[in-house]
Amino acid sequence: MESKLCYALTCTEDLEHLLSNPEEGAQIERTKTLFEEIRASVNNNEEQDRSFWRPVLPWGGVYTIRAGRKAISCTPLYVKISLKNTCTIDGFLMLLYVILRENETFPREVGLFLGKDFVEHFLYLMDSYDYTTVKLLWIWDRMSKRQYRSEVNRAALEIDLFGNEHENFTKNLENLMSTVQESLCTNCNCPARFQELLQRTINISPPRELPHRDLIQSAVDEFFCPKVVLCNEAGCDGLREFSHRVFCHGPPPFVILNMQMWRSENLAYVPYHLALCDHRYSLEGATLFNKEEHHYSAAFQIDGYWMHYDGLRSDNLVLLNKPPELLLLSSLVYIRCSDK
Ligand SMILES: [Zn+2]
Repeated sequence: MESKLCYALTCTEDLEHLLSNPEEGAQIERTKTLFEEIRASVNNNEEQDRSFWRPVLPWGGVYTIRAGRKAISCTPLYVKISLKNTCTIDGFLMLLYVILRENETFPREVGLFLGKDFVEHFLYLMDSYDYTTVKLLWIWDRMSKRQYRSEVNRAALEIDLFGNEHENFTKNLENLMSTVQESLCTNCNCPARFQELLQRTINISPPRELPHRDLIQSAVDEFFCPKVVLCNEAGCDGLREFSHRVFCHGPPPFVILNMQMWRSENLAYVPYHLALCDHRYSLEGATLFNKEEHHYSAAFQIDGYWMHYDGLRSDNLVLLNKPPELLLLSSLVYIRCSDK
């Protein structure tokens, strides 16, 4: 057992080394980015079937690395790292890639939160079709070790990402979407009169009463607007007044709305434009959940065409002609509109 552990550690060191030196895993230089390839395929193909011509970010992945010098002599020279249940990050990685490539200033902005090196390396690996490495980059660089299960089987390391995509992806975006709301209790003797409520994700719930206007915009407004509720500090009978909620670091380039609490009948209409804290955002994509298979996929648009990405299909990026059936909405992704 000890040797296996030692072995896994060696793999980790090698991998981190490899991830920090992209040249070692370098592939052939390409003239077009993956995004440009997809865009060209969507716009130029005149036939009915406009699926992208090669698999993009397939589910799972096997990464083979050379065992380092420290490896024990009886172990083989090459080690495999197998990835399982990667759909909890795949859809969002696809969306992140499209968002970063489509908006010139976003990579720099997102880099302020996730690190400039991470963003550059991420784009480089996606454009090199190096999909397993992209996933490992996310796992090692961004995810908390508690968020995935890994085990060593013989000479292979297996990383299992089974779980929830909001846990595995959205929670690892640092303070990109952080918002803060202050509150003050009307009771002078309240044990915690002034409070600051910080949230790193945007989890909106359907309004209790059906509003006259758009449900999603109303729910977003409710998340940001001031409110007065009964104070829930022990022994306090005051009223707690909440201020406007604001983004801690200004309006982020994109937001992910967690829609897990919504029932499909309340989602018949999804707005293209959304006002968030006085800034305009427009719909870029969504992630979808198949309850029976516990599987996530994603939809996004390029030049007005909607695409459906599902890492488990053989044609895993296809044009979406009608809303996908039997899939629940897991999240909505909006990007900040330019000030034009
Ligand atoms: Zn109170």
